Amino acid sequence: VMASMAHLQKEKLRLQEELLELQEKLTARENNELSLSLQLQGQVETLKEKLLEQAQEISRLRSELGGTDAEKHRDLLAAENERLRQEMKACEGELRELRREQQQQALCRDCPHLQENAGLQEQLSELQREAEEARAKLVELDLEVQQKTNRLAEVELRLKDSLAERAEEEERLSRRLRDSQETIASLKSQPQQIKYIIKTVEVESTKVKQALCETQSRNQYLQEQVGMQKQVLKEMEQQLQSSQKTEAQLRAQIMMYEAELERAHGQMLEEMQAMEEEKNRAIEEAFSRAQVEMKAVHENLAGVRTNLLTLQPALRTLTHDYNSLKRQVRDFPLLLQETLRSARAEISQAIEEVHSTNRELLRKYRRELQLRKKCHNELVRLKGNIRVFGRVRPITKEDGEGPEAANAVTFDADDDAVLHLLHKGKQVSFELDKVFPPQASQEEVFQEVQALVTSCIDGYNVCIFAYGQTGAGKTYTMEGTAANPGINQRALQLLFSEVRGKAADWDYTITVSAAEIYNESLRDLLGKEPQEKLEIKLCPDGSGQLYVPGLTEFRVQSVEDINKVFEFGHVKRVTECTNLNEHSSRSHALLIVTVRGLDRSTGLRTTGKLNLVDLAGSERVGRSGAEGSRLREAQHINKSLSALGDVIYALRSRQGHVPFRNSKLTYLLQDSLSGDSKTLMMVQVSPAEKNTSETLCSLKFAERVRSVELGPVSRKAELGSWPSQEHLEGDSPGSAAPPGRGHASPSPGQLSSRSASIRRKLHTSG
Ligand code: ADP
Ligand code: ADP
Ligand code: MG
Repeated sequence: VMASMAHLQKEKLRLQEELLELQEKLTARENNELSLSLQLQGQVETLKEKLLEQAQEISRLRSELGGTDAEKHRDLLAAENERLRQEMKACEGELRELRREQQQQALCRDCPHLQENAGLQEQLSELQREAEEARAKLVELDLEVQQKTNRLAEVELRLKDSLAERAEEEERLSRRLRDSQETIASLKSQPQQIKYIIKTVEVESTKVKQALCETQSRNQYLQEQVGMQKQVLKEMEQQLQSSQKTEAQLRAQIMMYEAELERAHGQMLEEMQAMEEEKNRAIEEAFSRAQVEMKAVHENLAGVRTNLLTLQPALRTLTHDYNSLKRQVRDFPLLLQETLRSARAEISQAIEEVHSTNRELLRKYRRELQLRKKCHNELVRLKGNIRVFGRVRPITKEDGEGPEAANAVTFDADDDAVLHLLHKGKQVSFELDKVFPPQASQEEVFQEVQALVTSCIDGYNVCIFAYGQTGAGKTYTMEGTAANPGINQRALQLLFSEVRGKAADWDYTITVSAAEIYNESLRDLLGKEPQEKLEIKLCPDGSGQLYVPGLTEFRVQSVEDINKVFEFGHVKRVTECTNLNEHSSRSHALLIVTVRGLDRSTGLRTTGKLNLVDLAGSERVGRSGAEGSRLREAQHINKSLSALGDVIYALRSRQGHVPFRNSKLTYLLQDSLSGDSKTLMMVQVSPAEKNTSETLCSLKFAERVRSVELGPVSRKAELGSWPSQEHLEGDSPGSAAPPGRGHASPSPGQLSSRSASIRRKLHTSG
């Protein structure tokens, strides 16, 4: 125990020492604590001060750059902007007005101001565009400022938060301080518990130390943050400054634009003024001109007024005249009636006179007509009214080939009346009134016949004969082909057209008959009984005219009618005869056209007959020893052809007796061959070598007919030389009398005797 006592004692001592130590420590600690609290209080104070300072700083900053100022600035800018916009609008309005004025003043279209104006307007638009850009920039800046203020507000908020935190911390620290003081106090009051308390204090003091450390680090962090904020603030300030600078720049630009705008405006105003002045000048000019014109008009008016004054008396005289005229008009009908009556009387008298003169003239005209006809007849008679033409047909296929078909006929290049025939090696020449070579067309032939046909309308009788051997072209010349008609159809066409031309004064009727003479018997080709033989009789009226009772006459008025008649006649001939060619070459075909005319004005009547005769073939059949009907035919043909020759000879040589009655043909054509009648003999020949003897005969016949001289001397001279057809036939071509070249071309002596006889004739007829 002692040991333990000692130990305890020792322990007690150690404890006491320890306590002392602790007490010491405690006091030290208390001191420390006190100094610490003091230090803390100082720290808090400085923090508070700093806080205050910061708050002040913040407020200062706010006042310095704070939203309010920026906003104000922005507002100011916006207002400025608005004002500028309005001004611009006003400017635009003015501009529009100016433009309208310019349009109104279309007169000064080419005025130089216009160009200037356009330039100014361009400048203006440029300025406006720049102002627009500046405005856009301003808006951008505004946006930036807004963003910055927003950020500032955020920072403030954060600062406030940290301040609040710090206050809280301070409070907490002061509370703990108080607590610890209390604990110290309680520790002081309760020494027994000191040990424990010391321990707790120790523990707590470490805790406090830790908290302090924390607080300090916190404080440091806060300070750092404040520094950062300051930096941010500084940056912001810088930004603000730069934005202010740009703003100032912008404002300067705007100002510049405004100045420019004002200048443009001023210019425009000036121009406007100039225009106005010009307008005024023009108006003044117009006004002055109008005044001058007005004056002139006034003067005119005055002149007109004086004229009016002078016109009034004229008007008075005019009305007077008018009244007198009216009176005259009222009296006019009576006067007119009287005048009309007298005029009518005069006219009827004149008509009477004209009538009598007319009658006298008509009488004279008739006398003259008769005289003319007489003279014409005399002329024709002197010229010889029997003409002989020759026509040579071309060589045809029917002539065959070889020497037989060779051409034996040639022509004279200078004389169209001469033709040469090569017969048995000798050339014989003939002269006729005209010779048609093979190439002569139907048209050309008709051209020569035309005059003869038209004289029929004047009342002459005309005969056209086609003479020649069979196959020499008689039918071709008279009838022709459908495509190329001959004399028959052309003559009728001509008659129609002539009659139409004279239709104003004359009434004409054209009738057609067709007959055939075969073996000396006459047959009607258009009648119902073609076989019936017709007789030729003297007219019972004692005029000595011949007529054929029962001969059909067709009245024709057009070419169609003629064609119908021809067709009809052909049909008759065809049906009656078995061999048309044979028959037709043995008979004479006659087409008798009668033209009866009546002159409406004189009552004169004319009758003309056109006889178109396609004679029977002239070849000498008798020689070949034909028998029976063939012989009889040949005899008849020979008889009638020689009778025709006799008649023509007698007529041409003016014999007292003309043997018309020797054949039916001449008897029928008696009145168309005698008197003033005209006769044409178309002698057809073939040029072929084999036909030369017949050709020779035909040409001899032709020349003899033609060579009959007019006048008593020649008449006598030629009398004996007229050969009959029989006589001709008896002649052998070789031993024939020397070819009639001598006859054809009379010697000068003969000519003179002929003209002498004509002279005699004229002398005796007075
Ligand atoms: P004719 O009547 O004299 O016996 P045609 O008139 O029948 O002779 O003629 C005999 C042939 O010769 C016919 O084929 C006819 O077409 C032809 N002919 C006659 N004359 C001519 C002419 N001038 N041109 C052409 N052909 C002709
Ligand atoms: P003519 O009239 O002299 O008696 P034709 O009329 O008998 O002669 O004709 C003689 C020849 O001509 C015959 O061979 C016939 O064939 C020929 N002929 C006649 N007329 C014509 C015609 N229009 N076309 C063709 N040939 C014809
Ligand atoms: Mg014939």
